[in-house]
Amino acid sequence: DIELAERARRVKPSPTLAVTARAKALRAAGQDIIGLGAGEPDFDTPETIKEAAIAAIRAGDTKYTAVDGTPALKEAVAAKFRRDNNLDYDLDQILVSAGGKQSFFNLCQALLNPGDEVVIPAPYWVSYPDIVRLAEGEARFVETSLDAGFKMTPDQLEAAITDRTRLVIINSPSNPTGVAYSREELAALGAVLERHPGVLVATDDIYEHIRWEAGAFINIVNAAPALKDRAVVLNGVSKAYSMTGWRIGYAAGPADLIAAMKTIQSQSTSNPASISQAAAVEALTGDQSCIETMVTAFKQRHDFVVDALGQLPGVRPLPGQGAFYCFPDMSEAIQRLGLADDVAFAEHLLTEAGVALVPGSAFGAPGCMRLSFATSLSNLEQAMERLAGVLGKG
Ligand code: PLP
Repeated sequence: DIELAERARRVKPSPTLAVTARAKALRAAGQDIIGLGAGEPDFDTPETIKEAAIAAIRAGDTKYTAVDGTPALKEAVAAKFRRDNNLDYDLDQILVSAGGKQSFFNLCQALLNPGDEVVIPAPYWVSYPDIVRLAEGEARFVETSLDAGFKMTPDQLEAAITDRTRLVIINSPSNPTGVAYSREELAALGAVLERHPGVLVATDDIYEHIRWEAGAFINIVNAAPALKDRAVVLNGVSKAYSMTGWRIGYAAGPADLIAAMKTIQSQSTSNPASISQAAAVEALTGDQSCIETMVTAFKQRHDFVVDALGQLPGVRPLPGQGAFYCFPDMSEAIQRLGLADDVAFAEHLLTEAGVALVPGSAFGAPGCMRLSFATSLSNLEQAMERLAGVLGKG
């Protein structure tokens, strides 16, 4: 046996990918499984974006690019920040990476010393804590509840900040809850951070465009502009343009921090794929109507799922404002079935109902379950009937 580094033992593989793999294995064994575990839109990448990639290949854009992204893509990202977010960044304040995941990885590697703390509101995206741990940082979780709208309050944030806090992460709309903070709520969190000048904030805006609330998208930098010189905005093309496989994300923030993130990237992956970068230029600068088509479908499915879950006994859904997840509290249903926890419940649903959901404990919220509605309405209808078959009708 190979003795592995302590680092390798500290990190866990993604539990959302594990559910997908388990569903796939059962399917291969002949079982009829409806997968509601997916973290990606079920739409194809728009044709114009694919064409841009094909054109790039034909034009010979198949070599190394600048580590931090091609000038064309960095210009497109800067223009996108001005157009959609009312934020101005110079090109040396922008880094393009192989997905939003690498952007956050670079940030933690560039910022954290051993023992430095990162405040992570729970439920959280599964990768935040592990990426923090890989950088030898400590995740400090702030627990929220369905009754609190799965939102961190200013008092909770204040209480979570210590001398070791380097970073706070905000993800709105959120994976896994679909909940988005209002401008007022973000301003109130921002006011707390203004009292702690040594703390940086990262806003993960990856679900910016998957949103059905009226009014413009707002992040904490918009709501508390005084934070801009210690804020990092994380975003990418994966979710908005159904481009998860292309691996393009980007970060914007203080030039010295971005430069350090770039150096780390230069000694790990170098530039993101040249062809994907050309496709991302088209995604960010081309016709944006593909977003509306997806959002209309997600909103319809969201409404259906929230309504159907609300009719099941022992299940409490919370309507969201965006993303493509619902995160109902199912603790009563789990208890009623006499199951130990949400992980046992996920297994029970897989084998008894043929429905794959991700247990909430993976996101730091045991008793809840994440249901992705990035699948057809007819799949969702069938899944809800199967759940009613296991849980009974309310
Ligand atoms: N941030 C959140 C909250 C996510 O849910 C995801 C993907 O699941 C990402 C970031 C990263 O996406 P990607 O690496 O595909 O850009």
